[in-house]
Amino acid sequence: MTYLVLSFAIMGLMLLATRNVRSTFSRYAKVPVRSRLTGAQVARQVLDSHGLHHVRIERIEGELTDHYDPREKVLRLSEPVYDHASLAAAGVAAHEAGHALQDKHGYLPLQYRQGIYPLANFGSSFGVLLIPLGLMAGVILGPMGFWIALMGFILYLCAVLFSVITLPVEFNASSRAMAALSHGGIVSSHEYRDTEKVLNAAAMTYVAATIGAVVTLLYYGSLLFGGAEE
Ligand SMILES: [Zn+2]
Repeated sequence: MTYLVLSFAIMGLMLLATRNVRSTFSRYAKVPVRSRLTGAQVARQVLDSHGLHHVRIERIEGELTDHYDPREKVLRLSEPVYDHASLAAAGVAAHEAGHALQDKHGYLPLQYRQGIYPLANFGSSFGVLLIPLGLMAGVILGPMGFWIALMGFILYLCAVLFSVITLPVEFNASSRAMAALSHGGIVSSHEYRDTEKVLNAAAMTYVAATIGAVVTLLYYGSLLFGGAEE
């Protein structure tokens, strides 16, 4: 019962965060940046000024699908960011360039995140299934079921760790972005706060996702180790 209430609260929180980032992005996508640079130009300027001439910039489909690929050294920007000269586009483009800067400087949380990714990916899909399966199987298999559930729990723990490590990675990329935007004269001091609002709204989606993951982990932990409370 408690879990039902909690999962609704988490779902609500995540929905709110997603809606907020969409509305904030679309509001500031309509505000032209005075430097008149498109997202692609902003990213190029930030990358070049840090010696990252070899990092390519590509246009990809979708909305808010922007990301930096550390393996291929490619910065992929969505169409509303790549081609447009808005505060929202400048913010997102600089944020993704911020990830490329983290990669260049060997920023540790980014490295940990990449290292844990395969297990986390497995844990968030397969691991989370093993927990209830193991608990149910425990009725027939006895202790064997507990070990299956425990394996699932450890895998899911990796997914939660990934989510937690994502937070410093995202906040750090945004602060690098804001520094590059203001030092490079891409946004004026007047435009700074509004650009920051877009990045803060995006960061909140990661915070909501992490809260959800931690609460889910605690719930499964209570099922596994404190069976009596359910
Ligand atoms: Zn990011």
